Amino acid sequence: MKITKNRNFVGTTPMGTELSILNYELDSETPGKHVYIQSGIHGGEITQWIIHELFLFLKKNLRQGKVTLVPCANPVSWTQRAYYSTNGKFDFYMGKDWNRNFPGNPEGSMGERIAAVLFANAKKSDFALDLHTSRESIPFGIYSRSDYEDVLKIIGIGYNQFIDMKNSPAYANTMNAGLDAAGVRNLCIECGSHDAYEPQNVREVVNGLKRLFASFDMIDSGLTEPAPAEIKTFAKTVKYTAPVGCLLRLAKPLGARIKKGDDLFYCFDNNDLGSVLAVQSKHDGVLFKASPTHIYWSGDDVVQLLLDEDTKALTTAA
Ligand SMILES: [Zn+2]
Repeated sequence: MKITKNRNFVGTTPMGTELSILNYELDSETPGKHVYIQSGIHGGEITQWIIHELFLFLKKNLRQGKVTLVPCANPVSWTQRAYYSTNGKFDFYMGKDWNRNFPGNPEGSMGERIAAVLFANAKKSDFALDLHTSRESIPFGIYSRSDYEDVLKIIGIGYNQFIDMKNSPAYANTMNAGLDAAGVRNLCIECGSHDAYEPQNVREVVNGLKRLFASFDMIDSGLTEPAPAEIKTFAKTVKYTAPVGCLLRLAKPLGARIKKGDDLFYCFDNNDLGSVLAVQSKHDGVLFKASPTHIYWSGDDVVQLLLDEDTKALTTAA
């Protein structure tokens, strides 16, 4: 086993500090597949717990092929701090989502330079994964082509959202869309909530990635746990917003099954002190995503449901 630490230069700050992206290459020194896994293109999305566990596991158990691990894919987004909160989804200079710069440009904006370095490494792989977190959420995969469903079944994350990135301008310059265009199979995984340590979610993703390595013969399949017998895919979601500016409490925990008429959340409005406004669901589904705050302006996103009418079950090999 050969482990190499590489620092790829992306640019400099006005102070002259060099910015670079660190990656670890774990090479079994036996021919096989190459898997690329990046974490943290968006500042504050902690998926390094997963990278850390994978590093220790692969160091001991990788027997074929190689794995590139990028613990922090963005040396700028993680510096965007205000008090205890890292606000790294959007580039504060450009106002743009950091994950809309792919395939990147080495002579472009800082966001495009970062994307170019990441993309140059990711496109050399046979399979690339982009790890994120999503507000407060259960883990879910995001896939951009229906022929990736075989990989979803191997990895076995409970819920997986299909987004037609090729035909959707809003997703055209994501890492995943760029990799699709370059012919590299790929997946995005939302690994749980922002700025959190959720051991069960870490375990779900790490176990899924071990099954992926086993499917490529990169590790012994005896080292994996079986996938759940069934996973679900969905494409349609519905968003519920705050009807008034208020403080707000959720009625149900993340992952809860919701029926039409169930209370979704309770609004506490200063203009109507002493009363509580309950907002009910108009849909059947699962509460999979919520905003990580109790403080709402009129019209702010509160929760998202994935809809039962659109959810499809896939049987895994387990
Ligand atoms: Zn993200």
